[in-house]
Parts: sequence; structure tokens; C-alpha cells
Amino acid sequence: MKKILIANRGEIAIRVMKTARKMGIKTVAVYSEADRNAPHVRLADESVCIGEASSNKSYLRGDKIIQEALKLNVDGIHPGYGFLSENASFAELCEKNNIIFIGPKSKSIKMMGDKLAAKEAVKDYNIPMVPGVDRAVTNPNEAAEIASQIGFPILIKAAAGGGGKGMRIVEKETAVKEQMERAISEATSAFGDGAVFIEKYITSPRHIEIQVLADSHGNVLHFFERECSVQRRHQKVVEEAPSSILTCELREQMGQAAIKVAQSCDYLGAGTVEFLVDNKLNFYFLEMNTRLQVEHPVTELISGIDLVEQQIKIARGEAITIKQEDLKINGHAIELRVYAEDSMNDFLPSIGTLNTYKIPVGTGIRVDDGFEEGMAIPIYYDPMLSKLITYGKTREEAIQLMIEAINNYKVEGVLTTLPFGKFVCEHEAFRSGNFDTHFVKNYYTLEKLKVATEEEAKLAALIGLKIYIEDQKQLRIPAK
Ligand code: ADP
Repeated sequence: MKKILIANRGEIAIRVMKTARKMGIKTVAVYSEADRNAPHVRLADESVCIGEASSNKSYLRGDKIIQEALKLNVDGIHPGYGFLSENASFAELCEKNNIIFIGPKSKSIKMMGDKLAAKEAVKDYNIPMVPGVDRAVTNPNEAAEIASQIGFPILIKAAAGGGGKGMRIVEKETAVKEQMERAISEATSAFGDGAVFIEKYITSPRHIEIQVLADSHGNVLHFFERECSVQRRHQKVVEEAPSSILTCELREQMGQAAIKVAQSCDYLGAGTVEFLVDNKLNFYFLEMNTRLQVEHPVTELISGIDLVEQQIKIARGEAITIKQEDLKINGHAIELRVYAEDSMNDFLPSIGTLNTYKIPVGTGIRVDDGFEEGMAIPIYYDPMLSKLITYGKTREEAIQLMIEAINNYKVEGVLTTLPFGKFVCEHEAFRSGNFDTHFVKNYYTLEKLKVATEEEAKLAALIGLKIYIEDQKQLRIPAK
């Protein structure tokens, strides 16, 4: 593979290009009109505009991207995450045009992209599943019957769901009918597919996922877990590896289960098998993401493996040379997704220009970003500014480093999730490892963040005053 095109933008396009460059592979960036001056365009060896700002006129135009790839003699396409990364037709289109799709085969994407098809695929592999039904349900009466069998609360989910969308919790029987109707109509408008199913709602779960790599020679390995329980709107904000609750035995069991899930769909490349873990440490298969995850850096830091490099090697047909028994967890890594969002106002998107943008630097700090000072945050795409990742010998060290890094990350012009990240890292529940997916609901209130911010402001004012008084003292020393 001599040249790859990255069908994405922002931090992940840059992340992929860095590894490609390291491997001596030339890169092609694609960009929309809104991203003409974006850093990912400048970093690439070649670049091509693929359309207007809105993603369905640019980054989602698989046909256009293939056309440009053919013109530029591209050998492979890396889709990043989001956009076309889990689009089976796009993977197929690459295959048809003799361009290597750096990811799994379209068949596996299709299978795992539909939550019901995924449940069906893993059925014979003895994987623990969340209690519920593994077929589409449309009749509210039938739904009520199923609910009373598995017990309330239940969760109605869209089969084609993603990004935390299309889920409805139902607490009691009288609400089943109405919530079913809403879920079906939501699923139809969001995903063009109204199929919904029912799962038991696990009340205090932790979201723990396993990174896997599979090659075309029959090797499937797991690269330990990532804990992604700190979420807002069912979407991850803080991730870490390893998880503070897994024992070696449980890690091994979940790792083996993840390998089986990958085998069930004849997987190829890097993928993630997501599980929910309840308060008795039972784990249940949730879904498989058939792409590189946003939070992959925490795995890279604790395992010492460059996952993008492995993806490329696998796509070239090479066998994974790493052995499962040689893999060890080294240290602890935490990632904070720095979104341009107002964490004091229900995490609403915050639009604006990055008047000040200075990232923290130092040992154990990694920032994956695609922005620079003076840039406006485009309204068309995901509002993630960067990923702030810290690495330490222990969890405590990684947490402490994260707090320091947040303090040294200067962003003005838009609001970000940095203060929220600090709140999490300073919170007793997070520090002690005693938290679940309801961290935000249970502990995070505007008042609490305000108190934390005000206390900090007071402290800053006191330090300022002390420095001022000391300066004054020095100034008053009479000149001889
Ligand atoms: P999506 O594909 O939209 O990301 P997932 O199935 O991966 O949906 O679930 C996203 C999040 O929703 C999980 O991390 C968890 O917080 C919550 N969730 C999903 N299923 C359940 C369940 N059965 N019980 C409790 N929480 C759930």
C-alpha cells in the first residue's frame, strides 16, 4: 500500500496520517468547502475538495470519494470513525473498485450494524446477553407482555440505533404503549428503520468494552478493556484503561467473549465489543463497533500498540505478529473528550471561534486534535475539539495529570467540557472507582460545578493577592 486516502476530517484524519507517514505511506486528505483551511488538509501529501459543507454533500459522498481515489491512484481508504466508517455499501464499493477498505468486510459491518442481526450472529457462541427479546417488536400489547416477563424497568431500543439515539426507558406497564409508539416513530425518522426490540434495563451498569484485532490468517486477539461509564445522553465523555473493577479472571472471560463475537461475524481489522457490567459483575454483550473507536488512544497507551498501524498491516494481508500471551497492561490511561459544549447548560453545543487555543504539553500527556487558534468551529459536524489523554504508572497518577493538563489547556471563544472533566477527576466517586453510567445524573449538578468553579476562583484570587502583596514588599525595599 503506497497511498491511502483518509475519508474523514479533524483529529482522526490527522491521527491516521501520522501513522501512515511513519510507515512511509503517502496520504490524501478529502475536505468539504468548510474545511478548506483545516489542519488535516495541510498535513496530507495531497488533498481534494469533495463538496459543500454539509456532510451528506461531502464526507458522506462515498461515490465521489471513490471517484477521486481512483483518479489519484489510491490503494486504500481509511474511513476513521463516524461518516462512512460503518457503511457496508461504501466498504462494498471500495471492494468493487479494487481499493482496499481499511476495515472489516462489508458483510461483517452489515451484520454488526444491526443490533438484532448482531444478537442473532452471536447466538451460538455462548455469549451472555442482556435479558430481553432478539427480534423486532411492533405490537404494544406484545411489548407489554414481554416487559412483564423480563420485569420493569425495560429499555426499548432501535435495531439500527447508534450514538445513544433511539432508546426509551419504560418504568411501568401503563407507559409501554405510548413509549413503543414514540420509539418506533423516532427510529423511523432517525435511522429510516422502525424496527425496535426490548431489553431489560440494567439499573446501575458500567460500560466496559474490549478492543479486538483480527487478521485474515485466523488470528483474533484482544487488547484488554476500556471503561466508558462516564456518559451524557448515553454517549461517552471520559474513558479509561484499565477499568478499576475488572479482576484478571473477569478480564480474561470478557476478552474471550469478545474474541468469539469477532469470530461470529468473520471479523477483520480493529473492532470493539461493548458490554454492560452490572453491580454483581455479570457482563452482557451490548453490540460490536466495526471501526476504530474515538477512545482507542487509551488502549494504545497501556498496550504500547499503534492500532492504526495494525489496521493498515491487516488490510495489506499481513498476519498479526503479536502473541496474546505477550500482551501486558502497562500503567493507566484516561481520555477526556473535549467537546465545544456548555457543560453548565445541559451540554448544549457552543458555537464560536477559538480566540485562544493552547494545548497542554508534557510527559504523559497526549492531545489528539484537529483545530488551531483562530479557527471557527464548523456547525456542520460533531463538536469534538480534541481528545485529552493522560498516562501514568497508576490510576491516581493519570487522574492527577489529567487535572493538571486541564488547568493548562487554554480555550477561549467557545465553552468546552474541560470543567466537566475536572469535576469528574476531582469527584470522590470517580477517584474511588465507585461509579456507573449514571455518574452525570447522580453527581453532576450545575450548582456543584458552580461551587467547584467558585472555590477555584476564590483560591485564584487569594493566590493573586498573595503575589501582589509580596511584589509590593519587594517594591518597597528602599534603594540604597
Ligand atoms: P448506541 O449504539 O446508541 O451507542 P448502545 O447499545 O451501545 O447504543 O448503548 C449506549 C449506552 O446506553 C450504554 O453505554 C449504556 O449507558 C446505555 N444502555 C444500553 N443498553 C442498556 C441496558 N439494557 N440497560 C442499561 N443501560 C443501557
